[in-house]
Amino acid sequence: MDFRIGVIGLQGDVEEHITALGRAFDEFGIEGEARWIRRPPDLEDIDGIVLPGGESTTISKLLTKFGLREALIKMAGEGAPILGTCAGCVLLAKEGDELVEKTGTELLSLMEMGVDRNAFGPQSESFEAPIQIEGVGVYPGVFIRAPLITRVWGDCEVLGSFDGRIVLAREGNLLAASFHPELTGDSRFYRLFFDMF
Ligand code: GLN
Repeated sequence: MDFRIGVIGLQGDVEEHITALGRAFDEFGIEGEARWIRRPPDLEDIDGIVLPGGESTTISKLLTKFGLREALIKMAGEGAPILGTCAGCVLLAKEGDELVEKTGTELLSLMEMGVDRNAFGPQSESFEAPIQIEGVGVYPGVFIRAPLITRVWGDCEVLGSFDGRIVLAREGNLLAASFHPELTGDSRFYRLFFDMF
């Protein structure tokens, strides 16, 4: 077993991540396991985390309710690789927009970046567009009520952009994507994440 990744499965596109991780493990010849995480004991033996897309306000409330918030912050501090996509990207940020405040969404506050929820428009205006990712090249970005990464500071670096706007950032063991790599069938994105283990 090379490593085990836990997908936080309280709300959102959990199954899609588990499937995409399995496919990426196969493609890269990695003896990995992707496991559904519902409660803190599920985190035992887990080496890294995926925070999926969904509704960041809801996920944030459920993280607190089920005692996963503190566990995730601890794991991040210990250096476990964590990937947040879309709503997961919002939750990793230290700085939210007005909507984050208005909805009382409690961010995990782990990455030195700001986010603007729903900056790319509503669900009905979901779109796919080529994005430029450092170390990967041109990648099909799937944007569904996607957040924009408004700025990064400190040790947080920009790894991907679309139309001059930041959509992928990394800070040490933390990776935040405003798009949905789990919905593309293109595993190249996961190389970035797997290289963090
Ligand atoms: N706009 C949603 C939020 O901020 C995220 C949408 C998604 O994850 N596809 O919670």
